[in-house]
Amino acid sequence: KKRNPHEPEFHQAAEEVISSIKPVLDNKPIYRKHKILERLLEPERQISFGVNWMDDEGEIHVNRGYRIQMNSAIGPYKGGLRFHPTVYPGILKFLAFEQIFKNALTGLPMGGAKGGSDFDPKGKSDNEVMRFCQNFYLELHRHIGHRIDIPAGDIGVGGREIGYMFGAYKKISNEFTGVLTGKGVGWGGSLLRTEATGYGLIYFTENMLNHIGDSIEGKTCLVSGSGNVAQFAVEKLLHMKAKPVTVSDSSGFIYDDEGIDKEKLAFIKELKNIKRGRIKEYADKYPSAVYTENKGDESSNALWDIKADCAFPCATQNEINAKDAQHLIDNGIMLIAEGANMPLDNEAVNLVLDSDIIYSPGKASNAGGVATSGIEMIQNFMGSYWSKKQVDEKLKEIMTEIHQNCLLAAEEHGHKNNYLVGANIFGFTKVANAMIAQGII
Ligand code: NDP
Repeated sequence: KKRNPHEPEFHQAAEEVISSIKPVLDNKPIYRKHKILERLLEPERQISFGVNWMDDEGEIHVNRGYRIQMNSAIGPYKGGLRFHPTVYPGILKFLAFEQIFKNALTGLPMGGAKGGSDFDPKGKSDNEVMRFCQNFYLELHRHIGHRIDIPAGDIGVGGREIGYMFGAYKKISNEFTGVLTGKGVGWGGSLLRTEATGYGLIYFTENMLNHIGDSIEGKTCLVSGSGNVAQFAVEKLLHMKAKPVTVSDSSGFIYDDEGIDKEKLAFIKELKNIKRGRIKEYADKYPSAVYTENKGDESSNALWDIKADCAFPCATQNEINAKDAQHLIDNGIMLIAEGANMPLDNEAVNLVLDSDIIYSPGKASNAGGVATSGIEMIQNFMGSYWSKKQVDEKLKEIMTEIHQNCLLAAEEHGHKNNYLVGANIFGFTKVANAMIAQGII
């Protein structure tokens, strides 16, 4: 904390990992001797730069851009870009740190990184977003490359933003390589990349439920967020005959006790991806839904106090605090699988781990997104495309392997069925061994 003051999210992510890997550090002194933890917590490279851009009225704005290249022991840096007004190095360092373990879990050769800007795409015209992306990329391009660091999307960075950055990259570099993932299908993008995080989350959940002799079919599900991860989590829940009943945005949430069906999901996609509207409009259109506004001064979020079977937080970090976790426990929720990164604060995690709820951390259950980015990179290297079926099968296989590896690592260290401990130990051990093999450098 002394070394990284005023970065509470980074401290939180580090504390969670440190407490899980203690049995490994105690049993294998070589990791302490090689100062693996200290080295993992220090970014290999941290880039910060100004981004100047002009709005449609001719006014000039100054934002900050960042790229945190955290660790490259097992492959080139890989991790998303986030455009959101809350972005600062503490958030990006937490995300980059988590990304190291997540990427190791996928079984693909990818190191950990994260980047972004405090630019807010909300309310900006397409031309303003394009000008921002071009100016952001103008600096970022010096530090990335298809064998160096391959950014992707995250909050506020979807297909539109990746497209504008890829256009800028091509203009500057005069070449066409897979320097970014999440590209459009038809210009280097992989089929199913857009869907992958949400789909992978539900595949992982099905593995968790199968492990206790159950399945997602027929389960009532709470989902938060209404962006990329939430939309495709809802879609896969529908494919698997579950009943999603909520979605949210930063202004509030809707609860539709008749269930969000295929037609209602199409409305959400159009509302969020094309019209860029607010989720409140869902309740204006469908009378079965109730809208609850987020006034910003609540000590808990009423979304997590709705009776259901499974909960999928897919919006942002720390969206579930101890009070919310207690509501979920009291309401008899059986499973929480994280679609977002670190959506439960550490107090909430501890409460959940002490309850009967089966819980998986984002670095395991949301790894399908980066895994499919890895699959996009493979296709770009090969100069060809995989079919939808091939990508989907590979995604399912990877999620099953992550599930298995978490359980095995947890059991080996005396924490049977603890996905959090399993994910952290598996990821840590893999990266630590690579770092030791590569020497002190
Ligand atoms: P999007 O920008 O597509 O959607 C984010 C959603 O969360 C929106 O509904 C947004 O509402 C809501 N949200 C954002 N910030 C807040 C906040 N402070 N309070 C309440 N709601 C908020 O992002 P993604 O769906 O891509 O990402 C969601 C989460 O999943 C993030 O934690 C991300 O890191 C994680 N993730 C994403 C992956 C991906 O492939 N996209 C991969 C792995 C993890 P509003 O519209 O009002 O801003």
